[in-house]
Amino acid sequence: MARRPLIAGNWKMNGLKADGLALAEGIAAKLKAAPPPADLLVCPPATLIDALCRAVAGSGLAVGGQDCHAANSGAHTGDIAAPMLKDLGASHVIVGHSERRTDHRETNAQVQAKATAAHAAGLVAIICIGETEAERDAGRTLAVVGEQFDGSLPAGATADNTVIAYEPVWAIGTGRTPTTPEVVEVHAAIRALAGKRLGAAGADRLRILYGGSMKPSNAKELLALADVDGGLIGGASLKVEDFWAIAQSCP
Ligand code: PEP
Repeated sequence: MARRPLIAGNWKMNGLKADGLALAEGIAAKLKAAPPPADLLVCPPATLIDALCRAVAGSGLAVGGQDCHAANSGAHTGDIAAPMLKDLGASHVIVGHSERRTDHRETNAQVQAKATAAHAAGLVAIICIGETEAERDAGRTLAVVGEQFDGSLPAGATADNTVIAYEPVWAIGTGRTPTTPEVVEVHAAIRALAGKRLGAAGADRLRILYGGSMKPSNAKELLALADVDGGLIGGASLKVEDFWAIAQSCP
């Protein structure tokens, strides 16, 4: 079936209020003028979610968080709960990004618990999985991605409340990307694994994004690949023109 692509911007720890608003408003203005062939989402730092949700309301641009805690409230200094994101108007939340898995030692079990919390709060969880360069060199890409998929996907996952982002760790922020056959191989493997968890119809509807150094110059080629249903974009999501050009590259 035809899956509508999703182009999601992960702003990471970038943007003060004025920059963030200008970026989101710039994308929203383009979206209103000429809707692209994709759903568009920006995931700013948590500090900007409230302002952005207000600024882009009604434009069609969705706003998401970059992480959430597995608990709904409690003694977790500095953390943000999924219902808090929902309360501000967020619709999605990224969980298990490789920078969180590395910087905060997040395990598959923790990512799964976060995704469960996201679902309970009514958010779409964008679950990130991907191998390191050493794991790829050791021929373990499909094994690692499979372990992460199985361990991070919660029991209640559906094609409506979950998006998978395949992000080879070595391609994030490096300017390097896998070859197109390598991307196709991993995406097909993820869809096959999804079939076991969501059933054939669910797997067919599940959106699987590619992430890792996607930019205007390579987006068209990557987004045209079988089983690639959009992109999770880091660096190139910080400029209106680049993010827009990637959105326009969707088939
Ligand atoms: C990311 O951090 O999710 C990402 C894909 O980053 P970049 O596009 O900068 O490689």
